[in-house]
Amino acid sequence: MAKIMAEYIWMDGKKPTAKLRSKTKIIEGPVRELKDLPMWGFDGSSTKQAEGHFSDCMLKPVYFIPDPVRGEPNVLVMCEVLNADGTPHATNTRHHLAKLMEKYGAEEPIFGFEQEYTLYRKDWPVGWPQHGFPHPQGRYYCGVGCDEVYGRKVVETHMRDCIKAGISISGINAEVMPAQWEFQIGPLPPLEAADQLWLARWILYRHGEDFEVYAKLDPKPMAGDWNGAGGHTNFSTKAMREEGGLEVIKQTCEKLSKMHNQHMKVYGAENDLRLTGKHETCSYKEFRYGVSDRGASVRIPMDTANKGKGYLEDRRPAANLDPYQVCTALVETACGSGFDPEKYGWQNFDPEK
Ligand code: ADP
Ligand code: MN
Ligand code: MN
Ligand code: MN
Repeated sequence: MAKIMAEYIWMDGKKPTAKLRSKTKIIEGPVRELKDLPMWGFDGSSTKQAEGHFSDCMLKPVYFIPDPVRGEPNVLVMCEVLNADGTPHATNTRHHLAKLMEKYGAEEPIFGFEQEYTLYRKDWPVGWPQHGFPHPQGRYYCGVGCDEVYGRKVVETHMRDCIKAGISISGINAEVMPAQWEFQIGPLPPLEAADQLWLARWILYRHGEDFEVYAKLDPKPMAGDWNGAGGHTNFSTKAMREEGGLEVIKQTCEKLSKMHNQHMKVYGAENDLRLTGKHETCSYKEFRYGVSDRGASVRIPMDTANKGKGYLEDRRPAANLDPYQVCTALVETACGSGFDPEKYGWQNFDPEK
């Protein structure tokens, strides 16, 4: 038995977009399974999760990975927030997805997230001229060289640490706007994919402290002729991955089109600034799907169309998506009868405005 550091991580009550919070608990290690991690608590009045007088919230460990920053045997622990009486807190979006998976687990949904983000230092994108703008877009996407891409050191450190922690990171790339990058998580079952995305974000923020940069997930960090930042969500069920899957994918796209506005409500705040119909997007006011079409709301990848099975890419979620909400929306629509964000009290964007 030796003391270890367990970093308890949770989503706060910030609206319209939750942020991450964390604190360290010293416990007896090693941690082999979830039940080796005790419940814990925090002051919800400091995280917009409680009023002053009755402010205790509980942290329930739900997923853990080796801590790549401090090194093993320390751990990073994703937590759900509970009320003092043990019921799920209103900001706990994860438990709804967990419940849904009890119902639709047999359909074996899996997800892959593309997380775009923009590196900032002192309120301006990394590498941008201090009082001006870089050369227009066109040379930065997947670029190499210090005149083309900015911030690779933190990007690379983050990627290596994700691998070290056992996160299913499937790649990285420099994006169209300078200082903008992407990493991909998955494909994995919904809860794991979403937990890993939140933990990968935490690791990125944490390394940002040492590099004195921060990752912004704003859908449109720079106004004007600069690309926005998305959270493309790749999705499939068992039926889509098997023979005849393409037909199931098309049927699912039809279902998605009927739920478009309901989905947009939980696909990220300020998504209208990004989904303009320009910069490889479809306007948030319409829904279109198509093979290999990067100007559509939902793209069926070429490889999926050719093989007649595979997955779909929902290009609508913004970089500031809550993956628990997005997975819930997609699973309920594809496997169930539709998605009603009001049922959960969720809305971070109003597409009717
Ligand atoms: P893009 O061409 O849109 O930039 P990326 O390579 O960045 O695509 O991301 C593709 C994502 O699709 C990856 O995150 C990967 O995990 C995910 N993916 C691959 N196969 C499936 C599948 N069958 N179901 C769900 N997601 C998948
Ligand atoms: Mn991508
Ligand atoms: Mn991208
Ligand atoms: Mn994509």
